[in-house]
Amino acid sequence: MTERNHIYFFHKERSDAKIFALFELAERYGFQIVQNPNDANIIISIGGDGTFLQAVRKTNFRQDCLYAGITTKNELGLYCDFQLEHVSDMIDAITQEKIEVRRYPVLIANIDDQGSFYCLNEFSIRSGIIKTFVMDVFIDDLHFETFRGDGMLIATPTGSTAYNKSVNGAVVDPMLPCLQVSEIASLNNNRYRTLGSSFILDGSRKLTLKITGDGNEYPLMGMDNEALSIRHVDKVEIKLSDKKIKTVKLKDNSFWEKVRRTFL
Ligand code: NAP
Ligand code: MN
Repeated sequence: MTERNHIYFFHKERSDAKIFALFELAERYGFQIVQNPNDANIIISIGGDGTFLQAVRKTNFRQDCLYAGITTKNELGLYCDFQLEHVSDMIDAITQEKIEVRRYPVLIANIDDQGSFYCLNEFSIRSGIIKTFVMDVFIDDLHFETFRGDGMLIATPTGSTAYNKSVNGAVVDPMLPCLQVSEIASLNNNRYRTLGSSFILDGSRKLTLKITGDGNEYPLMGMDNEALSIRHVDKVEIKLSDKKIKTVKLKDNSFWEKVRRTFL
């Protein structure tokens, strides 16, 4: 698949006239629309940032594909660089000979021996019951702290503007391959002490969360916008993965321009 001309569209709205117009336009430009994402080398989500996250997840974080997001809303998103009204911009961008590709880091969470899961925004873990949730937090092999509270989330740089930002985490440039660890309502007193602020780990480090018993080993775990169906958990290991999500890089559309247009 050297030539990039097989497009898979990931979308929910089926009967929208604008979407049909988009398909027609793509075909007119010589793209072939495929029904199976495995046959595609371009995967395009139509919806919002949440739809883009689903498109990446449902197509298994493909490394040999270019991803792009088209928003159906009035505003562009952090992953949605194109508006359904102006899709010819996107066709132009993809058909240009030398498109620049932007690469977004992806994290991987290993849960006991139950499997490994990729996340583009974040991995989150929180108490599944009304009581506080306790876990030992290790950075590489160092026991760093014992957390007690609602939970924690570990965000990628592109995920830093999502859930991470709501818990006062920093916004991180996706050119930095790293992980940000943030607390959700930690208990801090003379008995329980955590760092209290978010911290950023270099991409070569590993974060381990060991869940301590006491009826609390049934947390809710989330990968981006999907809940994990695993219920009982003892240990979660989180690292940056060797995968990167490739998207189209446009002029005047750097990460910081997106942050400005979204938040300022
Ligand atoms: P949702 O609950 O509908 O989305 C929450 C909002 O986050 C939506 O406006 C969504 O944009 C936006 N969003 C998603 N990824 C983003 C990113 N990387 N940077 C900035 N904004 C982003 O659920 P969803 O649309 O399926 O998105 C899932 C994400 O929601 C999760 O990965 C998590 O980061 C976030 N979330 C946030 C909170 C919180 O802030 N308290 C709680 C749970 C989940 P669209 O409207 O364009 O989809
Ligand atoms: Mn959404």
